Amino acid sequence: MDHAPCPRSARRRPTGRALRATVAALAAGIAVACSAAAPVAPPAPDPPAVAQLVARTTGDGAYTHLQALAGITQANGGNRATGGPAYDASADHVAAVLRDAGFDVSTPTFVVERDGRRGEYRNVVAQTRTGDPRRAVMAGAHLDSVRRGLGMDDNATGVASLLEIATRMGGSPPVTRAVRFGFWGAEETDYEGSRDYVDSLSGNETPVFYLNLDMVGAPNAGYFVQGASGGPDGSATVAADLTRRFVALGVTPDPMDLDGSSDYDPFVNAGIPSAGLLAGDSEHKSADQARRWGGEQGEVFDRCYHSACDDLTNVDRLALDRFTDVAAGTLARFASTGDLP
Ligand SMILES: [Zn+2]
Repeated sequence: MDHAPCPRSARRRPTGRALRATVAALAAGIAVACSAAAPVAPPAPDPPAVAQLVARTTGDGAYTHLQALAGITQANGGNRATGGPAYDASADHVAAVLRDAGFDVSTPTFVVERDGRRGEYRNVVAQTRTGDPRRAVMAGAHLDSVRRGLGMDDNATGVASLLEIATRMGGSPPVTRAVRFGFWGAEETDYEGSRDYVDSLSGNETPVFYLNLDMVGAPNAGYFVQGASGGPDGSATVAADLTRRFVALGVTPDPMDLDGSSDYDPFVNAGIPSAGLLAGDSEHKSADQARRWGGEQGEVFDRCYHSACDDLTNVDRLALDRFTDVAAGTLARFASTGDLP
């Protein structure tokens, strides 16, 4: 697929007629090429610490975490279904990586009762030792997979992206708000892991927002940002920051509703501002989307969604890189500055 970067000349800020034409195109909702990126400038430049974190955070680093999760999953039965050996081994791995990076790590348990059987499982939650824990910014991804396949795009990509951000950030970054990461079990059944976590929060543990990553490496990648409308107050502010970061990378993302189909759902229901990132699943890429993002029009974003072929070859590394950079920037920005609503 063609993910050619913007030509250098297109990165210049357009002036005069070019600028007016671009603004008009944007106002009309017309898909515009990467040269349109400049007018959608950030409202304020990122503080140096944010820019440095984004620069340190790489797709290669995220991919290394993805490979580790693939190896653990392969060696423990081939899927990370909640309660299976690969889920447990992955939870141990994620907790160890975050402890080694200096985070305060806990593995709160939750109970699932189904068909008369009772299971007790773990989420993994990590928080920086710096910043106000009563005003934490939070990102999360589900760690479990369906029983069929390694669950690489769904959702080792989200986990790998957050591990890359967390390890580059370290457990004691210079932030005013604490940064918290959640890795959820049982998303693939009924979001029991994230739901139990949200139910367990006391008032001063409630994060100021929650950012969800679920499938951020679809091989026929799309770029979707959830939260621009319909979410609790403040969701749109987070979604707008995510969107402008994609635009700065030369990618115009599409807005998508917080439609209740991933772990942001319990957060939304609790009134916590929420946003989500995904590269698409079983929907088909339109001609307009293929023009803006490359890839194959008329084909699904992830042809291996919930299938045995969701392995390491089922991941678009450029998409993983972009989603990781965008999530890192938004998390670090709102951890560092006061410009939340
Ligand atoms: Zn998923």
